[in-house]
Amino acid sequence: MSHGPYTCRGCDSTDYAVLLDMGKLPLANAFVGDNASTEDRFTESLTLVMCKACSLIQIMEEVPREKLFGQYLWVTSTSETVKKYAQWFSQRLRERHHHKEKSFLVEIASNDGFFLRHYRDAGFGILGVDPSNLAVEANAQGLPSIRDFFGVAVVERVLKEHGPADVMVARNVLGHSCELQDLVAGIQKLLAPDGVLVLEVPYAFMLRNELQYDTVFHEHLSYLTVGSVSNLMRRFGMKITDITFVNMNGGSLLCEIKHERSPTPRADQAFIDFESMIQLNTPEGWQPFAEAVKHQREAFVGLLEKLAKQGKRVVGYGAAAKCMTMLNYCGVGTDLMSAVGDANPRKQGLLCPGVRIPVVSPEDLMAMDPDYIVIGAWNFKDEIIFLFKSKHGYRNSFIVPLPTPVIIP
Ligand SMILES: [Zn+2]
Repeated sequence: MSHGPYTCRGCDSTDYAVLLDMGKLPLANAFVGDNASTEDRFTESLTLVMCKACSLIQIMEEVPREKLFGQYLWVTSTSETVKKYAQWFSQRLRERHHHKEKSFLVEIASNDGFFLRHYRDAGFGILGVDPSNLAVEANAQGLPSIRDFFGVAVVERVLKEHGPADVMVARNVLGHSCELQDLVAGIQKLLAPDGVLVLEVPYAFMLRNELQYDTVFHEHLSYLTVGSVSNLMRRFGMKITDITFVNMNGGSLLCEIKHERSPTPRADQAFIDFESMIQLNTPEGWQPFAEAVKHQREAFVGLLEKLAKQGKRVVGYGAAAKCMTMLNYCGVGTDLMSAVGDANPRKQGLLCPGVRIPVVSPEDLMAMDPDYIVIGAWNFKDEIIFLFKSKHGYRNSFIVPLPTPVIIP
């Protein structure tokens, strides 16, 4: 299989090993209307690889980012879990890093400004940078935001207008950046000498060990470990000074990063030793992963086919990119799943990319009287189960598809 020219996004090496070949899939956020063409739905190949030089795990393919982010349907502020997290996150930032009368905080990929509002309420001076139209909406609501991709170019402008940042926040952005080195160079340039970057990334340990292959999609370019983040930061004169785990996106790392010359000591060696022991940063350590992914697909599709034969009505809930990836990778069409519910009104009335399952509101989903609800957004599993039982009076079963399909009665 030819993959064409390829260089590592973190270090420019061309030496890589394939960890998982997912074949051809649609773009996971390319929801369509019901008049869309059904041809050429599965055109984009998707291959997870590891750089042999810096151990950065990434997908080989690169879809132009304008195509990916032009019509971005994802907004932060729809879930209770996220609301609680924003509260905790901003208070923690205040306790740890609000040292001046008004510390200046820049958030990269600030989306609709939901977290910015919390930082502002916690006493920070705020500025968001986000490439989507949501930045314009946030700005209109009094949450200062620049619509642009974060990198050295926009940093010049921010430095001129605001000066260096005391605190920077990059939640779930490193993995989505196709100009990774420009992004980190921009951070290095904007961060004040004693400033801190708080970086949140889904931990690739969970991808491998919890079989979260549905988090592999075209927008999600890199999959990070402490080892690969450390290598990347070192190339730009920065270091990891603190690491915490948070229960977001199936298990994420919260890393604090400072300039190399900061007096705060490095704090990543124990994690790097651990990752070395479990072979997280070597291709050999990923060999059982690809096999396990195939087994999950067989088990999941087998279960849905069995339920279809029994005449059961199965629907999904949570039209997130990860759910789209799994449905398409497994080839689950309308014969096995009647609809996918989602609370985001921007997605309702559209069809899932590829498999073309209709997206409906939670109320319309309940009106279909399902026997089973497949929880696509498994990272919000408890919240979704609670919501359906308490608010919608749902009395039937749930299916959690990963890491192995489980029925919750
Ligand atoms: Zn590399």
